[in-house]
Amino acid sequence: ATPTAIMVGVGKGAENNILIKDAESLEIGHTVNAIVLDKTGTITEGKPVVTDLLWSVKTDEQPQLEAVLYALEKQSEHPLAEAVVAHLTKSAPVQLETFTSVTGRGVSARYHNGIYLVGNQALLTENQIDLPAELARQALELQNQAKTVVFFARRMLEASKGEVLAILAITDPVKASSKQAIDRLVSQGIAVYMLTGDNAQTAAAVAKQVGISQFKAEVMPTDKADFVRELQAAGKVVAMVGDGINDSQALAQANVSIAMGKGSDIAMDVARITLITSDLTSVPKALQLSKQTVRVVR
Ligand code: ADP
Ligand code: MG
Repeated sequence: ATPTAIMVGVGKGAENNILIKDAESLEIGHTVNAIVLDKTGTITEGKPVVTDLLWSVKTDEQPQLEAVLYALEKQSEHPLAEAVVAHLTKSAPVQLETFTSVTGRGVSARYHNGIYLVGNQALLTENQIDLPAELARQALELQNQAKTVVFFARRMLEASKGEVLAILAITDPVKASSKQAIDRLVSQGIAVYMLTGDNAQTAAAVAKQVGISQFKAEVMPTDKADFVRELQAAGKVVAMVGDGINDSQALAQANVSIAMGKGSDIAMDVARITLITSDLTSVPKALQLSKQTVRVVR
């Protein structure tokens, strides 16, 4: 495309709340035939809210444990942690002795004679904490409602085994326009994939809501970039759409990188295109814009 066509394209993008940082994205956007979407904050609102807190300990033990849970999540920067903190009424402050954040898993801290953990099932497994059948059943039921389930557990220092203290269900609604945007991409013959660090059950429920048939759950940030690389190795021109720090490697790897304007600064720094309104319908619009830009000179 000519410099003029690029300038026109960038201008039209801006009018549509699509910020385009380089000419290349406009040149190749129309050739994209695979799109990888992050789930949380990209397909969903990214503003999680706790809907259920189910204790598996006696009522009189709950206030003290709730204070520990609060202290743990208060130190985490994960959006799920913010939801937990917002849900709990601030109780007497608890002084945690250590704090560890486990990527893709959750957080843990030492308090008195125990290690306290909040996170996903993998975090439980890694700490030799069994999930009782009844809790597993409840978790599955909540996950099938597209909710993310997080476990609060404890292992006493001398004990060989720990116990699950509570499960929390967290909802993060799909954005109103996500399905429409994905339908449009699919109808254009573009292969659409969803990637998430969340568990398989929740991922499947969300994918179904928006009409995505191909998705991968429980992926680590490096897995996201590897997935993009695999598609490219199979000859695909890949656009990656994400909002988080954990998407930045995949964004850097993609042929066309698109960040959500309401997402993390790091994602926006890496991505060559930013969708100011964080609305997925801007993705087909951006690809259309590329088509128009290139057509000008042909
Ligand atoms: P994503 O943001 O896509 O879910 P992450 O890798 O950030 O991916 O997290 C993966 C999973 O780890 C979350 O879905 C959640 O189950 C668990 N997790 C991570 N951090 C926390 C936290 N602070 N509190 C509770 N669970 C957490
Ligand atoms: Mg995200």
